[in-house]
Amino acid sequence: MSEGNAEWTARGEQVFIGTYSRFPAAMVRGEGCWLTDADGNRYLDFLAGIAVCSLGHCHPAVTEAVCRQAGELMHVSNLFHTRPQVELAELLVANSFADRVFMANSGAEANEAALKLARIHSGEGRYEVISLSGSFHGRTLATVAATGQPRFHQGFEPLPQGFVHAGFGDPAEVERLVNDRTCAILCEPLQGESGVRPLEPAYLEAIRKICDRHGLLLIFDEVQTGMGRTGTLFAYEQLGVTPDIMTLAKALGNGLPIGAMLTTEKIAASLGVGTHASTFGGNPVAAAAAVAVMREMLAEGFLAGVRERSDYFVSRLQELAGRFPGLTTGVRGRGMLLGLVLTERGIGLGPEIVQRLFARGVLINFAGNRVLRFIPPLIVGREEIDLLIGRLGEVLAEMA
Ligand SMILES: *Cc1c(COP(=O)(O)O)cnc(C)c1O
Repeated sequence: MSEGNAEWTARGEQVFIGTYSRFPAAMVRGEGCWLTDADGNRYLDFLAGIAVCSLGHCHPAVTEAVCRQAGELMHVSNLFHTRPQVELAELLVANSFADRVFMANSGAEANEAALKLARIHSGEGRYEVISLSGSFHGRTLATVAATGQPRFHQGFEPLPQGFVHAGFGDPAEVERLVNDRTCAILCEPLQGESGVRPLEPAYLEAIRKICDRHGLLLIFDEVQTGMGRTGTLFAYEQLGVTPDIMTLAKALGNGLPIGAMLTTEKIAASLGVGTHASTFGGNPVAAAAAVAVMREMLAEGFLAGVRERSDYFVSRLQELAGRFPGLTTGVRGRGMLLGLVLTERGIGLGPEIVQRLFARGVLINFAGNRVLRFIPPLIVGREEIDLLIGRLGEVLAEMA
């Protein structure tokens, strides 16, 4: 007999370093918005591998591209050009403000590249980056230092120098932190990990102006908000503010590890031969997946469909919030990056709500210890949204 959840969980716990608190399930199959575990249970997936599998699990176009590329050429390093990597960079450039791309393997690495570019471009003595409190930028030492949440710093000090944090949403505070060492302002257009907190367009416009006034680079970390997640290919498009550097990862490969750092021709010129590199960055198989993702997302009607179903999802969540005023105060977010904001009492129950949904075969998470976060595949249908709302309604009713 083949092994089930209990056996895989027990075996895993014997061999892994304990950095994760995992659900007691071993996932074995995925299709669209659904996962199946080793016991044969099915789950409606409103987590999508943490905003990664945006076209749904095992999307046929991505699977086909990966299989084809894996049979042709898997790796050659960046000492050579490869077809998928060139095609991907062309698609990114053609559909964004950027002229140039550096390929990485993850969000943290894309941000590392952005931080290094900001420093080298700004010249000697200008190395300080202002980021926001509540932000999340990755788990390498530099991106942890950029992350504006002390709980990620503890035990890892001394952190790399040159990172300061401004309070959330106050441009005057950002301006006060600017000095002659400052080289860049780094922010997520909508904070994902810390609880689905959107930055107002007026705020982003104000920090754009601060950058222009002081000759600083504006870096948007779109690792989570990019690739259609907020209803446009990149979040900056709907916010009326264009960054100088943008980072992507998560959904770029629909599950294959790939990240990218995008910028303008002029700024890119500061990173010359030998200044930065990655062995695997833009690997042909991962890049082939990302090319397939870009093509699907750019197809007629894809993003309009995401926005249309997001409106429906928001209205259903608002309805639900209205029924449970003791647990939740309302909905926030954009596109398919949505959060149900919990009351003081609801926050205490957050982990239990997530567990009870898991037991009912629905996957969501509790972001920033304050909101229930919904990040389903962008292809999620109305029936699946209705199913989630139904189950969530049952769980909230039990706890109200
Ligand atoms: C997930 C995330 C990262 C880190 O990406 P990794 O691929 O885990 O390194 C960075 N920034 C934001 C906004 C993220 O959501």
